[in-house]
Amino acid sequence: MTNTVTTYDVVVAGGGPAGAATALRLARAGHSVALLERSRFDRPRVGETLAPSIQPLLRDLGVWERFVALGPLPSWGTRSIWSSTEPAAHSHLESGYDSGWHVDRRLFDRMLFDAAAEAGASVSLGTSLIDSRYDGTWQLTCSNGRRITGRVLIDATGRSATVGRSLGARRIAFDRLVGITAQWSGVDVTAEQYLLIESVADGWWYTAPLPGNVMVGMFMTDADICRRDNLTASAPWRSHLQSTTATALRVDGARLPTTPRVYSAASHRLVRQGDTRPWLAVGDAALAVDPISGSGVPRALRTAEAAATTVAHLLTHPADATPLTSYESTRNTECTTYLSTRADYYDVALPHPTPFWTRRKLQHDAQACSVGR
Ligand SMILES: Cc1cc2nc3c(=O)[nH]c(=O)nc-3n(C[C@H](O)[C@H](O)[C@H](O)COP(=O)(O)OP(=O)(O)OC[C@H]3O[C@@H](n4cnc5c(N)ncnc54)[C@H](O)[C@@H]3O)c2cc1C
Repeated sequence: MTNTVTTYDVVVAGGGPAGAATALRLARAGHSVALLERSRFDRPRVGETLAPSIQPLLRDLGVWERFVALGPLPSWGTRSIWSSTEPAAHSHLESGYDSGWHVDRRLFDRMLFDAAAEAGASVSLGTSLIDSRYDGTWQLTCSNGRRITGRVLIDATGRSATVGRSLGARRIAFDRLVGITAQWSGVDVTAEQYLLIESVADGWWYTAPLPGNVMVGMFMTDADICRRDNLTASAPWRSHLQSTTATALRVDGARLPTTPRVYSAASHRLVRQGDTRPWLAVGDAALAVDPISGSGVPRALRTAEAAATTVAHLLTHPADATPLTSYESTRNTECTTYLSTRADYYDVALPHPTPFWTRRKLQHDAQACSVGR
């Protein structure tokens, strides 16, 4: 901890983009905030392509100059081999912001975390929140044994949503998507500043350039297919890569020094089921979306803004639970819209008659009934 205060207005568990942005906003508004982050930002992170809409969000947070100082690569658009065997190009020039960005997510997340600290949040690295009890205030235990109290608790733990689930919230999972990723080094990325997406029988690939002449590749499939084909081993992963056309060509001859790592990319909504205690979930903890939408980080920053407004109201009017209800209702609407958009993405894809694609059609029908129950 950077100071000795152990009682806070707000305790934020999770220092990814959603938690850091929420802490930053609340600290700037004059609230005492503790921001706990399990990692030390010392390992690679996924989610490297930021949509053009990130720019106004970072400007609004006052971190645009810091972002530019990280040396992100401009992303001029997307090329996709999705609904046709012919590549389709989509330019970011139409977005009104010139470009999106390809970033080193470890540096990006650390930059936001540091900005929260500078705004006055009391930050802890290498510290997980491991227990939460409410008796009028939150009695919280950290992994280093430290106990702190807070008036409002925020779950910003990402897809695991560990805090909300430990408090009894229900996680509605919409699929079992995983991403298996590795990075090629020594790639000349000057002519490659775009995201490439390619559908294959068992899922889809994306590749994107990163600063430092690196290309990241990710195979998106379902967890059971990943296990069946042993895709966390290098040889099967490379063999799946050979079933692509443009993706394999893009990294032809490049060195692949990293072994594949697997990440959960499952979509979910965390539903709090009538709980009126002063806690809320932000970012992926509240609603995790398919990377095909390219909207994870902008969404995380938007929910941070909504969460900060809700928390500010809770702190001044603790007996009024209306803002919490309204916050949840907005997340439900967001979830319904997201599921419909996701179905559109998959509906137009090549009609591979395989489990991966068939499940996406079936899931769409089932999901409409699940949200908001
Ligand atoms: C394979 C994949 C590819 C993606 N690609 C993109 C992309 O190209 N563009 C995009 O915009 N989005 C992408 N996303 C989504 C994007 O990464 C997320 O939406 C975004 O990171 C959400 O931010 P967050 O802060 O909610 O969660 P996270 O970034 O997951 O942060 C959660 C933080 O909480 C910490 N934590 C967890 N448990 C605890 C605990 N108990 N106590 C304290 N700390 C804890 C974790 O260490 C982590 O730092 C991708 C996601 C995946 C899985």
